Amino acid sequence: MLKIMELRHHTIKFIRDWMNAQGFWEIETPMLMKSTPEGARDYLVPSRVHPGEFYALPQSPQQLKQLLMVAGIDRYFQIARCMRDEDLRADRQPEFTQLDVEMSFVEQEDVLQTIEDLMTALVPAVTPHKRIRSPFPRMTYHESVERYGSDKPDLRYGLELVNVGDLVKDSQFNVFTAALTKGGKVQTIRLPGCASYTRKQIDELQEVAKIGGAKGMAWMAIEANGTVRSPIAKFFTPEQLQALQSAADADPGDLLVFVADKPAVVAASLDKVRREMGKRLKLVDKDEIVFGWVVDFPMFEWNEESQSWDAMHHPFCMVNPEDVEKLLHNDLEGVRAASYDLVANGYELASGSIRIHDREIQQRIFDRLPYSPEEIQQRFGHMLDAFEYGAPPHGGIAPGVDRLIMILADTDNIRDVIAFPKTQKAEDVMMNAPSAIDDVLLNDVHLSINKSIKSSKE
Ligand code: ASP
Repeated sequence: MLKIMELRHHTIKFIRDWMNAQGFWEIETPMLMKSTPEGARDYLVPSRVHPGEFYALPQSPQQLKQLLMVAGIDRYFQIARCMRDEDLRADRQPEFTQLDVEMSFVEQEDVLQTIEDLMTALVPAVTPHKRIRSPFPRMTYHESVERYGSDKPDLRYGLELVNVGDLVKDSQFNVFTAALTKGGKVQTIRLPGCASYTRKQIDELQEVAKIGGAKGMAWMAIEANGTVRSPIAKFFTPEQLQALQSAADADPGDLLVFVADKPAVVAASLDKVRREMGKRLKLVDKDEIVFGWVVDFPMFEWNEESQSWDAMHHPFCMVNPEDVEKLLHNDLEGVRAASYDLVANGYELASGSIRIHDREIQQRIFDRLPYSPEEIQQRFGHMLDAFEYGAPPHGGIAPGVDRLIMILADTDNIRDVIAFPKTQKAEDVMMNAPSAIDDVLLNDVHLSINKSIKSSKE
């Protein structure tokens, strides 16, 4: 842990010096502020001076950094603490650190190039034994999901997904044809040299696919003599079998695994299989970091629970000019945002976008989201007002510092790279936080605890 803390120190020091050399100013923004929509729940702080009112801890300084641009600051950065009350995972903590960046009078290319240059300089400086590939490959969100089943693909190896819907639509295999008729997809991955997998090994892999939501996983082993061993082979003509092998570039000795379902389920399931096989087939070299840019994210995503459209990144992203017509006609499905992610070794390392700097367009985006006019005014009135003063075009990004250190330090648990991390249940077990507080303190902030609530520590 000492070594990792030392690496963290050197990394942050390098970032500060590098940003300074590029003309960025480091500016601190408040922790006690107002809710900003980054898609998580806010941590709240009750106000003593204003009974019944609360501050929100920042999920990110998003709105503040945009306001700094309006105020005339050309280039801003901050090693910013962000707080999000959401379910924790191996790469997620309730409080984390971002290298928060915003630049005025820039286009997408300027932001991507700045961060690409930073990473290219940083990695060899703090971890000389690591190798990176330059330039960072770029692909659209749709391409990434189509080829890797994920918008944060591990680009250290291939194992790409192949769409075989057209080749199987006339087969006798009902599972495939039914999925296609319902608007679904059939995709396969070629697993080199895995034709000898036993039934048990295939069943294990099927369990991995199921974590992604698949109900099952079909397979075909291409034997050394070219024949196909598979419980489903009988549903396909020899020509169809041949076409499948060619599409997947399969050689004797390979195993093809298939998932047929709704597109999102196929992607999530084959992403799981792909990541598992990357490890099993030892396709990753732990001393290599492969970065990549995923661009053109959708502006909106449909929220099944609330039956409404949400902003996929956040509502401040500029809409792709080619899709403005769609936005105006309320055809939100295909509207792309000028937003981008930096991925590295299968992690989402940064998200950012070119921002809206025009009051009219910002208002239109808010109007499409599930906010009432009063709520828009109450939550974002200050942004809309600021844009009245002539906001410069601006854009930014926020690489996650903890995830970056995880990759540099070869660990897959974010808790390893944070001093005093929280447990999976968001507890600090050393200090015993969170904990109940005195009635006097509660009184001060005008709160009382519902008596039916028992502390988890009792
Ligand atoms: N505020 C964004 C986030 O925390 C990053 C950005 O758009 O700059 O993901």
